Amino acid sequence: MALQDIKDFPLVVVGSGFFGATIAHKVANELDLPVLVIERRKHIGGNSHSKVDQETGIEYHPYGSHLFHTSNEQVWQFVSAFTSFNNYRHRVFTRYRGQTYTMPINLMTINRFFNVDLTPETGRAFIAQQAAVETCDAPRNLEEKAISSIGRPLYEAFVKGYTAKQWQIDPALLPPEIIGRLPVRFGFNDFYFSDLHEGLPLIGYAGLFDSMLTHPRIKIMTDCDFRDVRDRFDKHSTRRRPGTRRRVTCGHLRAVVREFVEHYHAERNHQGLRNVIPFPSPDSALTVGRIGRRERLGGVLSFYERNAA
Ligand SMILES: Cc1cc2nc3c(=O)[nH]c(=O)nc-3n(C[C@H](O)[C@H](O)[C@H](O)COP(=O)(O)OP(=O)(O)OC[C@H]3O[C@@H](n4cnc5c(N)ncnc54)[C@H](O)[C@@H]3O)c2cc1C
Repeated sequence: MALQDIKDFPLVVVGSGFFGATIAHKVANELDLPVLVIERRKHIGGNSHSKVDQETGIEYHPYGSHLFHTSNEQVWQFVSAFTSFNNYRHRVFTRYRGQTYTMPINLMTINRFFNVDLTPETGRAFIAQQAAVETCDAPRNLEEKAISSIGRPLYEAFVKGYTAKQWQIDPALLPPEIIGRLPVRFGFNDFYFSDLHEGLPLIGYAGLFDSMLTHPRIKIMTDCDFRDVRDRFDKHSTRRRPGTRRRVTCGHLRAVVREFVEHYHAERNHQGLRNVIPFPSPDSALTVGRIGRRERLGGVLSFYERNAA
């Protein structure tokens, strides 16, 4: 599309991830207005983009696996209009000192770990006892919050190493609110996500984004950074809203988050259910390649660097 044409669009959406694609789709379909979607990558779909590997025919997600999950009925109805979903439910298993456990922590994890046979009611009382051993009225970080919520033994076994590996940071440096990402369930539900709806699009994310953005009123410009063309827009008629919260990162993590490695695992069944343990053992030593974080300007700026092994 000729750049001089872009002023003809009453709405320009920067980015073609779920946020941009939804806005563009709705404006074209419901308001019948022309929309221009500008995308700096060579493809649409943002971080949820998928590709089919030429060698194996397997669909994969180059920016990290994306599982669609929501409890919002409106969101589910909206997205289901473009594709059906398979019934994949994410389950995570972890190993600690030679035993396999379900994650997040549920009654099965607790019973196996303490070698007890608790019910939902007795389980709650049991965890309250564990938590009462080391209480903390105003926890300052994830570690203090976790210990005062579930007790030190469960924290040491399932939260400390797991969090350090997933976030690449000591839990004592994370804010206490993060605990919400690690629920404790007093039942035997072993789904990783608690949402009502979950699955992978049967036509792939690439197909899903194609369906969302295929409309005579929608024009897409890929491989185009908005910052390079913004002068061509009337400042007063253009609105720009980021879909994801921005944070400032410098140092090593900037490279890490941009580093996407494609690799093959011929020896493991990645698509099997319940037969692989996807995470390394949380109790294994965190040594080589661990990334440390230092805060600057009271936490506004995070400086990441790879620590010495
Ligand atoms: C490794 C990983 C795994 C994840 N797994 C899940 C998951 O399993 N389930 C889940 O629900 N969520 C997951 N997420 C979160 C999910 O990716 C985001 O919530 C979602 O992508 C947000 O959509 P978005 O449209 O706001 O942003 P994005 O998908 O990031 O899309 C923004 C787009 O804007 C483009 N853009 C930015 N600036 C410009 C510019 N100046 N000019 C032109 N284009 C620009 C970018 O290239 C990008 O394509 C995961 C995220 C990551 C990183």
